[in-house]
Amino acid sequence: MSAPNIETIVSLAKRRGFVFPSSEIYGGLGSAWDYGPLGVELCNNVKRAWWRWMVYERDDMEGLDSSIILNRAVWKYSGHEETFSDPLVDCKKCNGRFRADKLQEEYEHHHPEARHLVYETKIRFNPNIKCPNCGASDWTDARPFNLMFRTQLGATAEAANETDEGDIYLSNVAYLRPETAQGIFINFHLVQQTMRRKVPFGIAQIGKSFRNEVTPGNFIFRTREFEQMEMEYFVRPGEDETAHQEWIDNCYNWYASLGLSRDNLRLYEQPKEELAHYAKRTVDIHYRFFPERADEEKHWDELMGIANRTDFDLKAHSKNPLNEEGKRVNPDSTEDLSYFDEARKERYYPYVIEPAAGVNRSVLAFLMDAYSERTTEKGEPRVVLKLHPKLAPIKVAVLPLAKNKPEIVGMAKAIKRSLQPLMRAVYDDTGGIGKLYARQDEIGTPFCVTVDHQSLEDEAVTVRDRDTWEQERIKVADLQQHLQTRLIK
Ligand code: ATP
Repeated sequence: MSAPNIETIVSLAKRRGFVFPSSEIYGGLGSAWDYGPLGVELCNNVKRAWWRWMVYERDDMEGLDSSIILNRAVWKYSGHEETFSDPLVDCKKCNGRFRADKLQEEYEHHHPEARHLVYETKIRFNPNIKCPNCGASDWTDARPFNLMFRTQLGATAEAANETDEGDIYLSNVAYLRPETAQGIFINFHLVQQTMRRKVPFGIAQIGKSFRNEVTPGNFIFRTREFEQMEMEYFVRPGEDETAHQEWIDNCYNWYASLGLSRDNLRLYEQPKEELAHYAKRTVDIHYRFFPERADEEKHWDELMGIANRTDFDLKAHSKNPLNEEGKRVNPDSTEDLSYFDEARKERYYPYVIEPAAGVNRSVLAFLMDAYSERTTEKGEPRVVLKLHPKLAPIKVAVLPLAKNKPEIVGMAKAIKRSLQPLMRAVYDDTGGIGKLYARQDEIGTPFCVTVDHQSLEDEAVTVRDRDTWEQERIKVADLQQHLQTRLIK
C-alpha cells in the first residue's frame, strides 16, 4: 500500500516533525517549506544514499560543490537567459495568471482533435480555453516569463541603479542558479585535469537550485527553492546512446532498490516537441504522485529526468567554435572545453548524459510509498511508515518498560548511548509501551529495543521489528552487531 494522496503526507509530515509550512507565525509563505528534525534526517539520508551509490560505489566518478551564484555569462551562453521561461497568460476578467502551456495541455486532453493547433509564446492564446477561475475566455497574449531569480551583486548596485540602470544591468546582475549542471560544465577541465581522468567519467553534485515557478504547489513537489542531485557523465560522441540507456536503467533500479514499488514507477519518453533546446533524447522517471485522480494518465508526474545533452554545453562555453561567418560564437570564454583522447589521438567535445533528480521530490515519493495503515490486535488503526532502513530518520528507539524503575531507565539510557556512535538512536519514556511503539511506527523507525525487568537479570532485551511486529530476545552484548546486520540488509 502507499499513501492515498499527498494531503495524507502533508498532515503526517507536520504532525511528526518532518516538514513544516515555512514562516507560519507570519501567515506562511506560499510553497515554502521547512524541514523539521525528522525531515532533515530523511533528506540527508536520501542524499547520502545517492552520493554513496553514484560516487563511492563506482570507479568513474568525481564530486563537486560549485557556487550558487556564477558569472552571468554562464547563463547567457547556456541559453538560460533567452529560453529558460514559461509562457504566461492572464485572464482579463478576473486577473488570474496561468501557465499557457498547462492550460493548452489540459485543453488538448479533452479535445484531442485540437492537438494540431500548436500555439507558441507571444501569439494569441487559444480563445477556446475557458479561465479555470471565472469561466471567461478573454485572455492576454501569451508571453515568456523567465524563471531565473535575478539579483544584484555588491553594495554599489542599489545606489548606482538609480542613476544608470543600463551599466548596472551589465556589470552587476547575477542569478541564483536554476540547475546545478552549469557549475559542472564550467569546471569540466579543472576536474578532468586535476584528477587525471579519462573520458568516460562523471562529475556529481548535490545542491540548492532556484526557479521562480509560476505555479508552485503540491507540497514539496514544486517549490521555488529546492535541492537537486545531478551528475554529468562525459562520453565520446557515438557512445552517448548506449551510456544514456544504461543510466536510465541504473536510475530506475536505484529508486526501486530503496523501496519504491515498481507499480508506482514508470519511464516516460519525452516527445520531440517537449525536449529542451540542448537535448537529443530525454527519458523521465515518473512516480504515481496523484493516485487519487480519476484519470490514470494523470496519476503520474516527473520524479527525475535523464537527458542526453549532447556536446551543447561544453561547446557553448568554449572559446573556439565559430559561426557561419567565421566569428567566435562565445567571445567571452577564455577556455576551450574540448578533450584530447590520447589513445585515439583525436580531439572532441564530449557528449553529456545527465541524470537529474530532485531531493525534495524523491523525499515525497519515498514518504508516499512507505505509507501504510494497519489495525492493532485491539482494533485500533495505526500508521506504519515502511521506509527503507537506509532512509529511516531514526534507526533504533530504546524504550524502558517501566520508567519509574531507575535500574531499567539507567540500562536503557546506557544502551542508547552505546548505539549512538554507530546509528541514529533515540531514548523515549514519555508514554506506555503501546503508545511508544505506535509513535516509532509512524515515523518509520525500523527497530525498537525494549528494556524490561528480566533484562536486569539476563542482560538481554527485546528487539521489535517495525514491519512484522515480531519480537526477538537478544543479548545486550550482541545488540550492536545484530542491528547493524539487519540495517544493511
Ligand atoms: P518540471 O517539468 O516538473 O518543472 P523539469 O523537467 O523542469 O521539471 P529538470 O530541469 O529536469 O526539471 O530538473 C530535474 C529535477 O529537479 C526534476 O525531475 C525534479 O525532481 C527537480 N525539480 C525541478 N524543478 C523543481 C521544483 N520547482 N521543485 C522541486 N523539484 C524540482
